Amino acid sequence: MNILTTTPFYLNIITVLLLGLALGSFINVCIHRLPKNESTIAPRSYCQSCKIKISAWDNIPIISYLLLKGKCRECTASISLLYPIVEISTALLLLIGFINFGMTIRFAIFCVISPALLTISIIDIKHKIIPDRITLPGIIFGLIAGSYLIGLKESSLGLIFGGGILLLSSEVYYRVRGHIGMGGGDIKLIAAVGALLGLKQVFLVIFLSAFMGSIVGLVGLAGKKLNAMSQVPFGPFLAGGTLIVYFSGESIINMYIKSMIGSY
Ligand SMILES: [Zn+2]
Repeated sequence: MNILTTTPFYLNIITVLLLGLALGSFINVCIHRLPKNESTIAPRSYCQSCKIKISAWDNIPIISYLLLKGKCRECTASISLLYPIVEISTALLLLIGFINFGMTIRFAIFCVISPALLTISIIDIKHKIIPDRITLPGIIFGLIAGSYLIGLKESSLGLIFGGGILLLSSEVYYRVRGHIGMGGGDIKLIAAVGALLGLKQVFLVIFLSAFMGSIVGLVGLAGKKLNAMSQVPFGPFLAGGTLIVYFSGESIINMYIKSMIGSY
């Protein structure tokens, strides 16, 4: 008998939440170190202000932040609220994944992609880059996980055409506007997403993210928070679109096809 199916439901929930908090804590390390091209494993976490190494005791997700009242034990510099927010968001994301997929391979894959997408989104918002150190391993992971979910052929097609269409549109944009609209990071990210989800669903991700991106862009223009030359990072929209499609891809496509047939 499978140990995971015989474990009480609430114990599974607690395990998933703890895993989420631990992953969230690692995401915080990645957010700080990947843009600076530092190792994410060594040295141990340090205070951004006084650089002192943080003891394991002061590095427990959420709890340490609350006990230290959001301040470094040594220099009392405030610790960004982003740390606990990232930890809680990761735990909630994994919980939603677990409720949707149960203890399945699909959930295990989700435990890898959702923290990666969250990391990408925050780094892209803060630094306007998407690190190769996430997207390149992501392409390999996408091919392996995609082969399991949809087969190697569909996975390879998703990689080639997903990455290809963004490469093409960024080329066209560059020729027309004379400056770079979409970075190489976006292209490598969508190649990884294409490998994971396949051809049909990667187009849906591109469509959804472009749609969400233009709404945010229009709202930003209307509220004068942005101007025509503003560069809105595209990574968070690609990440959001990917998660939506991962949860409900086929049903969105089927709903769309049904409504098209219905309207004729
Ligand atoms: Zn300090």
